[in-house]
Amino acid sequence: MKIETIPQEGYEKVVKCEDAESGLRAVIAVHNTTLGPALGGLRMWPYASWDDAIFDVLRLSKGMTYKSAVADTGLGGGKSVIIGNPKTEKTPELFRAMGRFVDSLDGKYITAEDVGTSVKDMVYVRETTKRVTGLPLEMGSSGDPSPWTALGTYHGIIACMEEVHGTNDLTGRTVAIQGCGHVGIFLADLLHEAGAKMIYADITPERAQALAAKHGGAVVDPAQILSAECDVLAPCALGAIVNDETLPHFNTQIIAGAANNMLLREEHGQRLREAGILYAPDYVINAGGIINVSIEVEGDYDEEKARVKVENIYHALKRVFEISKERNIPTNEASNMLALERLSQPARAN
Ligand code: NAD
Repeated sequence: MKIETIPQEGYEKVVKCEDAESGLRAVIAVHNTTLGPALGGLRMWPYASWDDAIFDVLRLSKGMTYKSAVADTGLGGGKSVIIGNPKTEKTPELFRAMGRFVDSLDGKYITAEDVGTSVKDMVYVRETTKRVTGLPLEMGSSGDPSPWTALGTYHGIIACMEEVHGTNDLTGRTVAIQGCGHVGIFLADLLHEAGAKMIYADITPERAQALAAKHGGAVVDPAQILSAECDVLAPCALGAIVNDETLPHFNTQIIAGAANNMLLREEHGQRLREAGILYAPDYVINAGGIINVSIEVEGDYDEEKARVKVENIYHALKRVFEISKERNIPTNEASNMLALERLSQPARAN
């Protein structure tokens, strides 16, 4: 196994690995460990080049630092990528080699599943390193992150409701969910229980129809969901849904959902502000999964402790909204500011 350090300004450690025996070609980026070991998923993707893989891992690991800082997980930011096709190039030996690569960082980096990898892959990684989360429940892990992501998103929606409407009562309020997948389903359950009226859309229409059959509510075409008239638009599908094309058509005062990278560009945060739409920054509101994992990393996973901490997303968002108002800046900038503040005062973060 050949491991090589790639000097990278602003990052604590970036390492590249080539292992002829297993075919592993991977990069680990440890962006920042000021607040704790760097945790972030292992992505497997058929990157066209090492440069593409490095670009992606740098971007993603920095994002994890900000996300964990605002969520107060006691973790830093990192990420790893394997260059390869997840459909055709996975082998147990590839993931065992990845485990050895992770282990070479002596606990500075902890991995987990991500796009292109699964719980099953993590079991092979675990054979060669302890620095891995997201294992099956029976191995003492914290389980599926999606219900936790949904719970955090729900509490984030409440924080937004208070900010915009001065009430946390969702009775009779309309919430439109784009994407009825792992997170969307759990979120719909919570919102329905709170008395919200629902609108659903999914490119697999049966998923939206199943939720409407369970809780009532309307199903609309995926092309219509972003412009649906609602109190809260909850994107739970793809990124970049706030862009030049969609901006003029939003029919909501709140955008608060679980989807990652909702803004196509950072400037779209300012554009939402100008349009009078409150945006819950994605990495703040969707941090429930990582918060849950952070409880696992502390040792002796405790579901109740996880719940309390995930519900705190409400307070994190309130703080973001305060900064946004005090500084007269969009909420996405306010959350970045909060992350940097926590990183500069590590003793106060936990
Ligand atoms: P998922 O793949 O289970 O669900 C996504 C759903 O969106 C699918 O049902 C899909 O058919 C649907 N969809 C895709 N494109 C659509 C479109 N244009 N219109 C309507 N529906 C569409 O994914 P998930 O795990 O539920 O995650 C949802 C989002 O939340 C993703 O952006 C993910 O990155 C983010 N996220 C998830 C977690 C988690 O714990 N699962 C944590 C943080 C962030």
